[in-house]
Amino acid sequence: MSLNVLIGEEKINKKIEELALNITDYYKEMTDEIVGVCVLKGSVNFFSDLVKRIKLNVRYNFIQVSSYTGEVTTGSVKVKSWLDEPLENKHVLIVEDIVDTGNTLKYIVKYFQRQNPLSLEITSLLMKTVHNHEVNVKFPGFEIGNIFVVGYGLDYDEKYRNLPYIGYIN
Ligand code: 5GP
Repeated sequence: MSLNVLIGEEKINKKIEELALNITDYYKEMTDEIVGVCVLKGSVNFFSDLVKRIKLNVRYNFIQVSSYTGEVTTGSVKVKSWLDEPLENKHVLIVEDIVDTGNTLKYIVKYFQRQNPLSLEITSLLMKTVHNHEVNVKFPGFEIGNIFVVGYGLDYDEKYRNLPYIGYIN
C-alpha cells in the first residue's frame, strides 16, 4: 500500500485562510460570538487551524460520531459523545472534515435544530461530488471525486490521521 498526495499542506492552509475570512465576514454583522462544533475525530486538525483564524469569539464544542468502519460506510450514525452546552440562542457553526453521503450531517443538523439555535451553518473541508448530499454546506472547502482519502485528521482504521497533507491510498 502506498500513499499519494492529493492536497498538500500549502493548499490546505490557503483554503483555510479563505474560509476563515468568509466566515468572519458572514457573522460579523450579526454577532461577535459563535459556537464552533468540531465533529471528532476527523475534523480536529481542520477545526484547530480554522478557529485560530476566525476573528470572532469562538466557543468550543465537540461531538464524536461515526458511521465508517475501514473504507465502508455502515449507513447508521453512532453517537459516542455529544454537546456539553445548549445551543439555544447561539450562532452555531458545524465544522466537518468531509461530506460523503451527507448522512452524518443530516443526523447532526436534525438534532441541533431541536435546540433552537439562532442560526446553524456548516463548513466542511472536503466534499465528495458523487452524491447529492441534500445538506447546505455554506462554507465548502475542496471538492474531490469518489476516492477514499486519509490524513489531516482523516483515518483508515485509526491510521494516517497525523499526516500534514490529504492523501489517498493506492
Ligand atoms: P457521510 O455521512 O457524509 O457519508 O460521511 C461522513 C463521514 O464519513 C466523515 O465525517 C468521515 O468520518 C467519513 N468519511 C467519508 N469519506 C471518507 C474518506 O474518504 N476518508 C475517510 N478517512 N473518512 C471518510
